[in-house]
Amino acid sequence: MTDAQDLADRVTEGELRLHELAEHADADTAATARRLAIEADTGADLSTVGDYSFPADDAESNVENMLGAAQLPMGVVGPIAVNGGAAGTGADDSSQHYLPLATTEGALIASVNRGASVITESGGADARVVETGMTRAPVFRVSGIAAAEQVVDWVGEHEDDLRTAAESTTNHGELLTVDPYVVGDSVFLRFVYDTKDAMGMNMATIATRQAASLVEDETPADLVALSGNLCSDKKPAAINAIEGRGRTVVADVRIPANVVEERLGTTPAAIEEANTRKNLIGSAKAGALGFNAHAANVVAAAFLATGQDAAQVVEGSNAITTIEDRGDELYASVSLASLEVGTVGGGTTLPTQSEALDVLGVAGGGDPAGSNADALAEIIAAGALAGELSLLAALASRHLASAHEEHGR
Ligand code: NAP
Repeated sequence: MTDAQDLADRVTEGELRLHELAEHADADTAATARRLAIEADTGADLSTVGDYSFPADDAESNVENMLGAAQLPMGVVGPIAVNGGAAGTGADDSSQHYLPLATTEGALIASVNRGASVITESGGADARVVETGMTRAPVFRVSGIAAAEQVVDWVGEHEDDLRTAAESTTNHGELLTVDPYVVGDSVFLRFVYDTKDAMGMNMATIATRQAASLVEDETPADLVALSGNLCSDKKPAAINAIEGRGRTVVADVRIPANVVEERLGTTPAAIEEANTRKNLIGSAKAGALGFNAHAANVVAAAFLATGQDAAQVVEGSNAITTIEDRGDELYASVSLASLEVGTVGGGTTLPTQSEALDVLGVAGGGDPAGSNADALAEIIAAGALAGELSLLAALASRHLASAHEEHGR
């Protein structure tokens, strides 16, 4: 009997709980024991889940009760030319990138790849991070509006003290601003940080805890929750679409009309009309936060490939696509208001995710700090633009259903 089988039997007999296995064996043996116990309990075969290619120890800070790994197919788009503020590293200030995407949606990569090749043929997409700011907004209880005013006044007069407190917890993070919101006897303080190459949610939370205790010490406010949902993390929220969160990034491209016709099989006018009626009018009528065709498709697939926090695809879908028929060329842009990405921390150091970041040349901390995450945001934005162009062109030329049939639906 193997150690793992012995441990699994003890779980089955109720002597050990799944999470206690970590105290009795190394990470890989504990994962094997969990699979054996769960296989015995459910009859499922977990042999593929257990066939992972990295030491379970490597995922210790990413997952509890590890069973194995969920494997997703990863494809690649590109090369896509991006003339970025951070992503353009070539001699002519442009660089070509392969963008790894992990997805289960057949036809997605073929479609984005078509858009990427049209962008590259047209001289590349320009892309810029126009604003950076990861947020955490604790909620405090006060006795009423008079006390709320006292707290807001104190915060306004002591932003430097709050900055010192917050930044004492991090070597990289910088507190940019603190925006107060009052609702009755609740005071929300929305702390905004430059988290450099980290997506920054842990960093911002730890820094805000320190600043919040100063607020409690110096004002009548009592902290109720370190996250008061005005942040707003992993929930659809207009504040992120308007104010931005993480990186606010814009990519655009000008495509000659003949390239639209030859490569996309339609016209600038037809793509503009599809965008106006679908992405603008249709989204407005739906009360949408995202005025785009499927930006979340590229965001989600890039997030899974590169180790981003998948739940933040919610914010990543806050994007507006614009298209203009300029006669001899088509202008297309996508503006992602709240793209939350990092190249350090979180899932970025897991082996396959780190390899995908290596393909993009942005693994780890950038020089200067923040430039790798900026570059990643710009390349994802260019990928989203490629996806928008290809899908809008398919709709404009009515090819969508046949493309899905051809590529496995
Ligand atoms: P993290 O893995 O907690 O921390 C990354 C750390 O890397 C930073 O704190 C920083 O240390 C260090 N670092 C080294 N080089 C850096 C560079 N060039 N730029 C920036 N930092 C650098 O990652 P995180 O991005 O703060 O948080 C991401 C994780 O938070 C994900 O796992 C996500 O799932 C999770 N998450 C947490 C919450 C929450 O409320 N806590 C919410 C959503 C998601 P210093 O700070 O010492 O400089």
